[in-house]
Amino acid sequence: MTLEITAKAKRLKSEGRDLVNFAAGEPDFDTPQHIKDAAIKAISAGMTKYTPAAGMPSLKEAIIKKFKRDNGLDFEAVEIAVSCGAKHSLFNTFQVICQQGDEVLLPRPFWLSYPEMIKLAGAKPVMVETIPESGKIDIDDFKKKITDSSKAIIINSPSNPSGVVYDKAWLEEIADIACETSMHVVSDEIYEQLIYDGAEHISIASTGKEIRARTIIINGVSKSYAMTGWRIGYAAAERTIIKGITSLQSHSTSNPSSISQAAAIAALSQDVETSMAVEFEKRRNAMVEGLSGIKTIGCVKPRGAFYCFADIRRTGMDSRSFANKLLEERHVAVIPGEPFGMDDHVRLSFACSIEEIDKGMKRLKEWLARA
Ligand code: PLP
Repeated sequence: MTLEITAKAKRLKSEGRDLVNFAAGEPDFDTPQHIKDAAIKAISAGMTKYTPAAGMPSLKEAIIKKFKRDNGLDFEAVEIAVSCGAKHSLFNTFQVICQQGDEVLLPRPFWLSYPEMIKLAGAKPVMVETIPESGKIDIDDFKKKITDSSKAIIINSPSNPSGVVYDKAWLEEIADIACETSMHVVSDEIYEQLIYDGAEHISIASTGKEIRARTIIINGVSKSYAMTGWRIGYAAAERTIIKGITSLQSHSTSNPSSISQAAAIAALSQDVETSMAVEFEKRRNAMVEGLSGIKTIGCVKPRGAFYCFADIRRTGMDSRSFANKLLEERHVAVIPGEPFGMDDHVRLSFACSIEEIDKGMKRLKEWLARA
């Protein structure tokens, strides 16, 4: 469904239409120069051979330091596996922790690749409701959905698509239940650095010793360093899980690109550039303000990532018709909410300029006023 919209948007653009693109899933910023320089240096120095399957020791060292610096967590090299993007780290994780018939609990709305990855591992995604006003997991529903087959719950904070950031009390509540019921937590923290309103990113693994042992943290350089094309992600977990991931990866893809690994070391070795998050916050404000001026659309202000997940219920359209018509009639591309588990929402990305946001909001408002 996402591909259908993006293909249509591309076609309109190639036909010379004035397209406003709110469909992007990646930062529109360029990778910082010092990271590119590190990659060029790596090529010149002949770092063009295989590396250990789950990443070079020097990159694991940089990841360990990052966890200590940003999350207050201690890891050893045997507890880290580097893969070809966070997506690959997630795929490997489900393959390793899930058996046929297991269930993985998935708070709705969810990033659209999770259910497919869970199914590819022979397991079953089980949706858990969230509270619309806050995005908090509905704890009663969570408890109700737990069975003997429950293997893990996924936490994605900051969230794609809702931009919800979980606070410490919510995480502790989830952690207690996961520990009581012997479940893993797969904590996807890929948007960690893109956080607004002075909110704080907390890794659920840092809330206690037992939950630390049950959590598989997924992170990477794609979103925080504008490095989506470089394909570096990583998983951090207790050593038997990492051993499984390493083994799976050594017989499938082997190591992620050696050049990209060198670039990731440069990225992770410096404190994160906050300028990108500062710019995203301004854009978020512009989009939220634009949406709040449209009577038939509702939107909970996102505190992280770069998406607004807009409630379109009052327009009377389902998400696919909404996205298709808006694109065809006003040349504004948004992503239908259906593959994220909510057909009465659409996702608008603010990974574009303020001018684009203002233009798109104006078109959306006029379009809905006439609809
Ligand atoms: N997790 C979430 C929630 C995402 O939104 C994405 C990318 O859109 C990923 C993981 C994948 O990241 P990567 O590009 O590093 O594979």
